Amino acid sequence: RRSPMAAPLSTAAASWLAEGASSPPRVRLLIGGEFVESRANEHVDVTNPATQEVVSRIPLTTADEFKAAVDAARTAFPGWRSTPVTTRQRIMFKYQELIRANMDKLAENITTEQGKTLKDAWGDVFRGLEVVEHACGMGSLQMGEYVSNVSHGIDTFSIREPLGVCAGICPFNFPAMIPLWMFPIAVTCGNTFVLKPSEKDPGAAMMLAELAMEAGLPKGVLNIVHGTHDVVNNICDDEAIKAVSFVGSNTAGMHIYSRASANGKRVQCNMGAKNHAIILPDADRDATLNALIAAGFGAAGQRCMALSTAVFVGGSEPWEDELVKRAKSLVVNSGTASDADLGPVISRQAKDRISKLVQSGIESGARIVLDGREIVVPDFEDGNFVGPTLLADVKSDMECYKEEIFGPVLLLMKAESLDDAIQIVNRNKYGNGASIFTTSGVSARKFQTDIEAGQVGINVPIPVPLPFFSFTGSKASFAGDLNFYGKAGVQFFTQIKTITQQWKESPAQQRVSLSMPTSQ
Ligand code: NAD
Repeated sequence: RRSPMAAPLSTAAASWLAEGASSPPRVRLLIGGEFVESRANEHVDVTNPATQEVVSRIPLTTADEFKAAVDAARTAFPGWRSTPVTTRQRIMFKYQELIRANMDKLAENITTEQGKTLKDAWGDVFRGLEVVEHACGMGSLQMGEYVSNVSHGIDTFSIREPLGVCAGICPFNFPAMIPLWMFPIAVTCGNTFVLKPSEKDPGAAMMLAELAMEAGLPKGVLNIVHGTHDVVNNICDDEAIKAVSFVGSNTAGMHIYSRASANGKRVQCNMGAKNHAIILPDADRDATLNALIAAGFGAAGQRCMALSTAVFVGGSEPWEDELVKRAKSLVVNSGTASDADLGPVISRQAKDRISKLVQSGIESGARIVLDGREIVVPDFEDGNFVGPTLLADVKSDMECYKEEIFGPVLLLMKAESLDDAIQIVNRNKYGNGASIFTTSGVSARKFQTDIEAGQVGINVPIPVPLPFFSFTGSKASFAGDLNFYGKAGVQFFTQIKTITQQWKESPAQQRVSLSMPTSQ
């Protein structure tokens, strides 16, 4: 998998980490093209979720440091916006090559800090890499429109110009893919950027920033700050920041949406989810079972597009034995183990929260078909592991159904008919994704038309579109008007300007007209 074109990153002397007498190493800031150590007094530990080992710590960026990062981005903007789009694209071409050459290193870092299996971490990087590849075509993506002769001697054209300084705030669950959803599109459009990675797993974003510099991104075009609420609020409030991209929970997302947009910024927030699968009795049994297991338990259920609820038309009983058998065959282990199917969840708090939601389901009448809460992984006894868990007879009013669990828990529900199943899904407040499993084209077409979810799968469990489309979560899973990547992503990071020009021989003397110009 490793390309011979570029040498892999050396993490031993990684310039984004400050190794000193004091361990653990401190993650640096990236300001104006330099990886600098923060002067902050307060830090947050980055913990390996399989071992509880503190692998690094991030600083709570000070207000002055934040200001310096925004200033660096503002200073870099005029030169960068006037850099030809072909030059900006060429940096992305180089960047994709460097990412490819460092896939394994990036994946290793993700597994250490986030916990997912190495193979899954590799996919995390790859899905981000595809956005970089997409940004390589920015000349076409950013193209304007032209109508000649809208009136005599008059033409109108529109161009898409960069906004200025943009910012991104990231969640923990895709440490590479989500930063790559944001800054490659933004900077290739001609913006400069301030990125705040998740405080739980910043390493991949730092390595990606280092590679972006190596690819030729000029100083100040990409800056990185660390922290939690305070730095996020600074991003929402700073006058120089024109647009904010956020991915994460609804609590943080709605706060950021209201605060940043009240300050006049453009905001896009991708948020929580409760993704349903509807299974019709005519579905291909083997393929459907595999899809439910993979999408329910992959990444330990910590994907925003994880299938967390399976609605069986006619009831789940005929499917349960086989679901249990396949779920039990999954290997729960440290993500570094070659046989691991799922690794730990991100933190002890996350594990406790998942266990409590499962317990609340049982107490309100759900039937536990497979319980993974007490799992112990040999050699990793301190890890935040939760084994695959299946809860049946789940009802819409249960806490475990209403809340996003974000763990390896698949809820099984019963519907009387396809209409009934669609109504269950549509009543849920979230609208990230929904899938149907059926061999009936008529049912699939009805589902596609009537379902209220932004990303629809037909015999596809995780229908995350490739970057030439957009990531189109809806309802409570998204706030804003323009989605991430695809055409909408370019629109989000650009301001449209429409120019009307008149070039014609001097017209014969006419009387001055004060009426509204019209085209005749
Ligand atoms: P989170 O909201 O806790 O954190 C996301 C970011 O917001 C972090 O950088 C964090 O520092 C910051 N933050 C958290 N609380 C804040 C607050 N009160 N004020 C200001 N900033 C705050 O989310 P997470 O736990 O890292 O990620 C998991 C969530 O992200 C899940 O809900 C998942 O569904 C969602 N997610 C959604 C998508 C999508 O595309 N819809 C993709 C990935 C993850």
